[in-house]
Amino acid sequence: MNIMLFGAPGAGKGTQAKYIIDQYGIPQISTGDMLRAAISEGTTMGMEAKGFMDDGKLVPDSTIIGIIKDRLSQEDCKDGFILDGFPRTLAQAEALEELLKDLNMSLDKVISLNVPDELIVDRITGRRVCPACGASFHVEFNPSKVAGKCDYCGGDLVTRKDDTKETVENRLVSYHEQTAPLFHFYKDKGVMAEIDGTKDINVIKEEIFSILG
Ligand code: ADP
Ligand code: ADP
Ligand code: ZN
Repeated sequence: MNIMLFGAPGAGKGTQAKYIIDQYGIPQISTGDMLRAAISEGTTMGMEAKGFMDDGKLVPDSTIIGIIKDRLSQEDCKDGFILDGFPRTLAQAEALEELLKDLNMSLDKVISLNVPDELIVDRITGRRVCPACGASFHVEFNPSKVAGKCDYCGGDLVTRKDDTKETVENRLVSYHEQTAPLFHFYKDKGVMAEIDGTKDINVIKEEIFSILG
């Protein structure tokens, strides 16, 4: 099962990706997590991406398409995957089409988590993430069982450097200008399922499971 989670920053993609992994056993491919891993390893690619990420701008398409190409070609994607945070531009979506064709794969479902901008700032500023496994929690809306510790791996939770009110405003601009138009790209392909992302996390989880079957 090849799935894409679509939505604004803070819409809940990463949160739901973890539930899908548990239920269906397919890997999450988060370009944001991969970029953060590259930054913490100090690779050239990570260093180049960092400035864009800190400013809330998109990292250049060539970088992103390169990392996705490597990742989707790996063995563990053969039985399915969850794209989270990719594609974010039309050029990325077109590159993905090509890549999937080459790999003899296709997308089964695009799940759009619809959340209005007004709710995004509180979600992002209250977010706490686990750098070890990529899980995300919220101080108020989805607290971890033990404060400051990841429910999945026990790692220490941190606030992402770009999860500030100022940066989130730039990220929303990038989203509306460059990413939101992809909604129609996938709707026209007939693979789009829309979910009201303002609902309770567990309600959304069940809706996703019933869409995926
Ligand atoms: P994304 O991966 O789309 O950027 P996350 O899954 O990290 O988003 O969620 C952003 C923040 O909002 C996190 O702090 C998360 O705990 C919280 N969150 C996710 N889904 C919901 C929801 N349905 N209601 C309230 N808060 C949510
Ligand atoms: P969020 O879902 O909260 O926006 P992500 O972890 O998906 O956060 O992304 C963090 C940052 O990484 C983005 O603001 C952007 O700078 C960069 N990034 C992640 N994925 C992509 C992508 N597909 N294309 C361009 N930049 C990306
Ligand atoms: Zn963790």
